[in-house]
Amino acid sequence: MTSATAFFQEADFITAAYIVAFGMFITGLAKLTSPTTAVQGNKIAAVGMLIAVVATLLNPGLDGGDFLLIAVGLIIGTVIGVPAARNVKMTAMPQMVALFNGVGGGAVALIAWAEFRGAGGDLSSELEVGIPLIFAAIVGSISFWGSNIAFAKLQGLISGSPVKIPAGLFVNIGLLATAIGAGIAILLGSESEGVFVLILVASALLGNLSVLPIGGADMPVVISTLNAFTGLSAAAAGIALNNYALIVAGMIVGASGTILTDQMAKAMNRSIGSVLLGGFGGEAPAVEGAGGETGGTVRSTSASDVAILLAYARQVVVVPGYGMAVAQAQHAVREMAKALEKKGIEVKYAIHPVAGRMPGHMNVLLAEADVPYEQLREMDDINPEFGRTDVSLVIGANDVTNPDARLKPDSPIYGMPILNVDESKQIIVLKRSMASGFAGIENPLFFDDKTQMLFGDAKASVAEITSELGQL
Ligand code: NDP
Repeated sequence: MTSATAFFQEADFITAAYIVAFGMFITGLAKLTSPTTAVQGNKIAAVGMLIAVVATLLNPGLDGGDFLLIAVGLIIGTVIGVPAARNVKMTAMPQMVALFNGVGGGAVALIAWAEFRGAGGDLSSELEVGIPLIFAAIVGSISFWGSNIAFAKLQGLISGSPVKIPAGLFVNIGLLATAIGAGIAILLGSESEGVFVLILVASALLGNLSVLPIGGADMPVVISTLNAFTGLSAAAAGIALNNYALIVAGMIVGASGTILTDQMAKAMNRSIGSVLLGGFGGEAPAVEGAGGETGGTVRSTSASDVAILLAYARQVVVVPGYGMAVAQAQHAVREMAKALEKKGIEVKYAIHPVAGRMPGHMNVLLAEADVPYEQLREMDDINPEFGRTDVSLVIGANDVTNPDARLKPDSPIYGMPILNVDESKQIIVLKRSMASGFAGIENPLFFDDKTQMLFGDAKASVAEITSELGQL
């Protein structure tokens, strides 16, 4: 071995490389807090991960056979991962994240199994290794199998509606007790591989059965919870393997996943417990016809009338929602905003934290269409401005504008912070029908005297408005 090779394989060198990688993870994460720096942050964190992987490969304990296996794994992962990530549609991003996250949990569970076999089944003599390995096996397996169900629901492979399991809570408690009991048996000296497999199977069933009763639309919260699980299981595997990179990266994922879960639940006015107990947010029932519970009338309008209204406005606030993502209308919206700005009209975008179906959904779409970042306004900044807004243009948003969240204490979304669009002087809502949004409830905004509905696909409607503006 040359002295240069020996230098790079020094434990101190590898540790130093890990510390550089951790610095890059944290810098990357900090930069993800703003759309202007997010892409750069992603790249910095990716380079950090590359450094951590290379440093791990420098470990002098690896031989030719290990490298062959690693190369095969890298090739399979790259061949599947790169095209999948490149081709995924923005609206399919939550299920993509579910899948990637699940694979991480599955990998951790398999590492735990491999370590169990490597130790000849003896995890009782070194409990500081055994305990984290059992934890990693249980939590990693739950995360993998739970994420698969989340993926299948969001991808429409199975129904997104909550699936009630008879005595589900007791079944789940039984499965958890079985997994923990089998883990304790191993830590007390059982060397049976069957007992270890029992841990994996009981945890797998627990993962499946705890996600099945949760409605498809709550899946992003579930995914971020499972993401936190994967992080914690990776950190536990890192403790068992004495690998700092795994411990730190796992803890960062665990902590950020937990914070994200908490923030999403708060923005949707749900407790994490109520999400995990399920039953809400399945496929939304349509609220057809005018009036509904609200008893008002719906006024529909045309693109040319909307263009005239907009042309006389001083300030227009665009309120994007899930429908803009479905219609992929962001580029058309940007073109319309340019046409308005040319006429001297000020355009701003009101961004609700849970508009769309994943955190930051609207920011990502609008950034993709090159909407200037300074025109994007967070909910707390834009809400005081609706009162002096001439026209609010609601594009495929529904729940995040529902005044019942402020005014109707028995509404399922009462208490959820919303965009106060109803305070604007005029409101135009672009959607295809009177169907409800995610929460499956009627929106009285659509029956407001100041509101007019422009029915149709958001992209086509916006393009028509832009073309009408061009003729004014
Ligand atoms: P909503 O789901 O409330 O409403 C979206 C509306 O878009 C629908 O009413 C639909 O009406 C309309 N729409 C769908 N397709 C089109 C199209 N092609 N053109 C025009 N309109 C269309 O969306 P919001 O963004 O207002 O609210 C998000 C909801 O999702 C909230 O309840 C939030 O709690 C929830 N949620 C958000 C998560 C997140 O992380 N962002 C995660 C999980 C849930 P129509 O069919 O009539 O066109």
